Amino acid sequence: MDFKENPLKLKGDLLVHTNFHDFGISDKVIMSLSEMGFEAPTPIQTAAIPQALKGKDIIGQAQTGTGKTAAFGIPLLEQRPDFAPARSRYPYALVLTPTRELAVQVCEELGKMGARAGVVCLPVYGGQSIELQIKNLKRGVDIVVGTPGRLLDHIQRKTLSLKETKTIVLDEADEMLNMGFIEDIKKILSELPEEHQTLLFSATMPREILAIAKTHMKKPVQVSVDAGQMVVAKIKQVFYEVREEDKIKALTRLIDVEGPALTLVFCHTKKEVDDVSGKLQQMGYPAGALHGDFTQSHRDEMMRKFKSGDIDILVATDVAARGLDVPDVSHVINFSIPQDPEGYIHRIGRTGRAGKPGIAITLVNPRQYRHLRLIEQSAKTRIMKEKLPTGAEVKKAREDDLAAGLEEVIAEGKHAALYHLADSLLEKHSPRDLAAAAMHMMLGEAEVEEIEEVRTGFYEGGKKGFARLFMTVGRKDKIRVEDLIRSIAAEANIPARNIGNIALYDTFSFIEVPSDLADRVIGAVNDSIIKGRKVKIGHAKKRKQV
Ligand code: ADP
Ligand code: MG
Repeated sequence: MDFKENPLKLKGDLLVHTNFHDFGISDKVIMSLSEMGFEAPTPIQTAAIPQALKGKDIIGQAQTGTGKTAAFGIPLLEQRPDFAPARSRYPYALVLTPTRELAVQVCEELGKMGARAGVVCLPVYGGQSIELQIKNLKRGVDIVVGTPGRLLDHIQRKTLSLKETKTIVLDEADEMLNMGFIEDIKKILSELPEEHQTLLFSATMPREILAIAKTHMKKPVQVSVDAGQMVVAKIKQVFYEVREEDKIKALTRLIDVEGPALTLVFCHTKKEVDDVSGKLQQMGYPAGALHGDFTQSHRDEMMRKFKSGDIDILVATDVAARGLDVPDVSHVINFSIPQDPEGYIHRIGRTGRAGKPGIAITLVNPRQYRHLRLIEQSAKTRIMKEKLPTGAEVKKAREDDLAAGLEEVIAEGKHAALYHLADSLLEKHSPRDLAAAAMHMMLGEAEVEEIEEVRTGFYEGGKKGFARLFMTVGRKDKIRVEDLIRSIAAEANIPARNIGNIALYDTFSFIEVPSDLADRVIGAVNDSIIKGRKVKIGHAKKRKQV
């Protein structure tokens, strides 16, 4: 929580403020800030707030997670006109963000900071009902936060007027540029009254951004927090070298062993997001997917579930997850390596929020090693190589978890209510049997079998002359071993007796077939429909030797 510890270099016109009172901002805002747990301003806030309060145009550059929202948000709240006791008829401030999610998030943060001051903030973005937005705009708002396209739409329909807008904020300006919003932004800027203040925030400062600054801003003050250093301070960065085909396995192993709170997994393409999230789900991990092809309501639902912990793993593209601030993200995993250093910084900045520790993991295949080192150099950071946990370590982590869970229950003492049941069962069974059975129940069948498998090495080689296949149906699909044998035999047109051992788990199964028939089975069964479900089948990955 303590930003002061970060080894930051500050440039710009800097006064040292140690608390929010020094800015001379109103008590109501200070009270809201303290309710949010903000004790002292972050460096970018220290640098930007006094200047913005003076009405200066600002170009702010700082990495993600440095508190840019409040850096522009606090001055915005302070600028609320006195004549607006309830809500303004027209927004006095406008914030542009690249994505819908970010619009919602920034609006929420402004809403919290302005709660006591009674500031009314409205998010406006594509994908949400325009009628609803029009209705809300008509009721009057103080601050509108939105994506450029939809804002422009409202301006053109005359459902949004900027005639009283005194301040405009361009948040994540570089990303808006990347997403091709530049023309929309220029049009919006041209709708503003002659006298207005512009606050531009961006993690990077490409030429085009500086060009906007030059033509549209008045003697902007530059404030910046040095790149690279911020992230290093709080985020542990590691990478694992894995072959492309082993990445899913590596991912699940890391999740099992690290026991993350919330994990954000980054993929390169939408298709990869679908693949990875699908595979995780099939293996029983509570994972969701986020990318631009989903409807807005689906995206909102995903974010809600992720924030509330209904799903622990969110698989996303860069664009969809840009700027997201979910405090409990303990791990960012780059399933595919980011394209450039900026991308890397943006991604890993999704963890270690608000000074919490975070872990960033990058999976690289051997050919991407050099690329990773280049990212490391340009981002001025250190990414340490680590070795993937072995099956035995995974098993141990799970067992440790279980044991720790039990000890916690005992320490809390709440289990005492069940003593009478324990006593009566102990008349019939040994303590050892009872304890193990209870643990078995807690883990579920599949996990116990998996632990057993790792322990005995049963599947290491499989039966001689047999190939081991992985299939994406399991007990939860109401499928039985006989059903599987019958379906496979029929689809691949092979005798049922040729099919070897079958291990049925909750959401997937392993099937042994003679090696020379494996490809035929895969070809015939993959994408076929079994019990009303489209199934995938392929060679099972060999487990690491225990
Ligand atoms: P950025 O826009 O630079 O990526 P955010 O504005 O999203 O960063 O802030 C990152 C996190 O830090 C948020 O959870 C925010 O609530 C928190 N935060 C911002 N300023 C402070 C502060 N002064 N003290 C404590 N937490 C803060
Ligand atoms: Mg931000």
